[in-house]
Amino acid sequence: MRLISYRDGGENRVGALVGSDVIDLARAHAHALSVRGETESAAIAAAQLPPDLVRILRRPDSLDLIRAAADHGAGLDAELAQRELVRRPLASLTLLPPVPNPPKIVCVARNYAEHAREAGLAVSEIPILFARFAATLVAPGAPILRPTVSDELDWEGELAVVIGRAGRHIAKADALAHVAGYSIFNDVTVRDYQFRVTQYTAGKNFSASGPFGPYLALADEVPDPQDLEIVTEVSGVEMQRASTADMIFDVATLIEHISEFIELEAGDVIATGTPAGVGFKREPPRFLVPGDVVRVSITGLGTLENPVEAEAQ
Ligand code: MG
Repeated sequence: MRLISYRDGGENRVGALVGSDVIDLARAHAHALSVRGETESAAIAAAQLPPDLVRILRRPDSLDLIRAAADHGAGLDAELAQRELVRRPLASLTLLPPVPNPPKIVCVARNYAEHAREAGLAVSEIPILFARFAATLVAPGAPILRPTVSDELDWEGELAVVIGRAGRHIAKADALAHVAGYSIFNDVTVRDYQFRVTQYTAGKNFSASGPFGPYLALADEVPDPQDLEIVTEVSGVEMQRASTADMIFDVATLIEHISEFIELEAGDVIATGTPAGVGFKREPPRFLVPGDVVRVSITGLGTLENPVEAEAQ
């Protein structure tokens, strides 16, 4: 199952993709409850499947609730489902990042040997991590902003892992059971701000630099997160192509390592690092300019597409 977050009528909603339509989980659940004679169906549905994927994923029964609501919505008479706003065409909705407000976004640097080599940096024996703020996230289709203070805007297509079950000191063997699902991250970086100091915080946290989406594929749709192909295109030209098999630290190792020092919580995002082919190491360097379109595609996770626009002066 594939989940999205979206805006509707001035509020955030959570839905499941069914073909080219979206089943609104809370409304579908409310309808199912009302059919069973529940008089407080809307209130119960809003409490059990709130319009916030982080709160949904915190529930131990979240997957059962999501699947039951999506199945109920998909089985409804089409006219009724549209009238009740349970089922809507995806194209009519404004997408948000699948998790718009992750408690933490932990990013991994130099997790593909070839990328470390192209950057002239050593491969580390332990994961190199940095943090991103949720305020930098960009919805699918929304613009990446090229800042006024730098021309060195660069792409980084990556596999994103979204945590479902919280945990601390998670053993590698148990790690994938803590994953809710997978998506795509474009860890857009302002290179001069990244490298002119020793900390990545500024270069990795420009406003509107974190495209994330288009949907969250629940973990059972991804039998092996280390067997996915990542392709990044900039304005129709392929820039990155790699397999997640080439990660230095695989998803399970990253979860084990991060949870050594902090609890991983429902809705946390791990951006697992980018393969070779970023712009600043090309000959000549290729940075993003207004008018470019960046597309990152991963096997089974769709395509995350964002235009580049100039930040307002
Ligand atoms: Mg990165």
